Amino acid sequence: MNALWFDGKRLSLRENKIPRPEKNEALIQVLYAGICNTDLEILQGYLNFTGIPGHEFIGRVIVGPGQWPGKRVTGEINLGCGKCASCKAGLSRHCPNRTVLGISNRNGAFAEYLTLPVENLHPVPKSISDLDAVFIEPLAASLRILDQVKIRKNQSVFLLGDGKLSQLIARALRLETKKLLVIGKHPEKLQHLSRLGIKTALAKDLMKIDPLKKPDLVIEATGRPSGLQMALKLCRPAGTIVLKSTFQQSANLDLSQLVVDEIDLIGSRCGEFGKAIRYLQRGKIAPADLVCGIYQLEDFQEAFKRASSKNSLKVILQCQS
Ligand SMILES: [Zn+2]
Ligand SMILES: [Zn+2]
Repeated sequence: MNALWFDGKRLSLRENKIPRPEKNEALIQVLYAGICNTDLEILQGYLNFTGIPGHEFIGRVIVGPGQWPGKRVTGEINLGCGKCASCKAGLSRHCPNRTVLGISNRNGAFAEYLTLPVENLHPVPKSISDLDAVFIEPLAASLRILDQVKIRKNQSVFLLGDGKLSQLIARALRLETKKLLVIGKHPEKLQHLSRLGIKTALAKDLMKIDPLKKPDLVIEATGRPSGLQMALKLCRPAGTIVLKSTFQQSANLDLSQLVVDEIDLIGSRCGEFGKAIRYLQRGKIAPADLVCGIYQLEDFQEAFKRASSKNSLKVILQCQS
């Protein structure tokens, strides 16, 4: 099969063996895979990953136990060891021995086929298009915020960042509060949100904010260490910051404000796929409008160039030629 392989230095297209599913695993033909910032970071050396990257996908089960063959699916990306205390407590995504699809010790979705345990799979209802379904993983991560903080109908919330993840988070948060403000650096990306009726502002215009207008909830999803510094500046004392970004560089931060202002800082990563599927099924969110390019695996260089360019949103790889 064709697959994109990262050897620790560069990504290349190569001929790989079709993986063999173990017992209780399924062989999945990948239809589409999304390129996310984590993938771009992996190509910069994040987590020392080698192998096939890619963790956002929609595919079809080719080989698997029971009723699985033929099903259109997506899959949870963390695979716990099943034995440690975290796994036994139902927190396999925090298992210290976990592998993660296309991120840590497990080949991922930038290939014609992948394998995953069937317990990781979620059937995707027909009413959800392939291009919407490829967003289930990042949408689940966006909706995770709603499990961690209660948002009131009229609560003022600032969301920092206008990239792919922020775009999804914004679509989720606007269903919770009318007072959402998305703050970014790219007018074109912000326009994408204003078209949906979401209020936006450029970061440079917010440097002198009236202390009374500071929100008590700031979501940071800029993908940059400076985002947390800005969140600290914007958050009201005794407020909450939810941190979504992971980055390679260590953040040079003055955290004393966190202490002085008694701000709660919450880390937020993966979320429940079932919830994301329900949002898509009910048409509450239709993320396919974020797709800015679809490329064949062979055209991966162009695809990654597009994905790392300033004004791009979601770039998709079409994994079947
Ligand atoms: Zn991702
Ligand atoms: Zn474990």
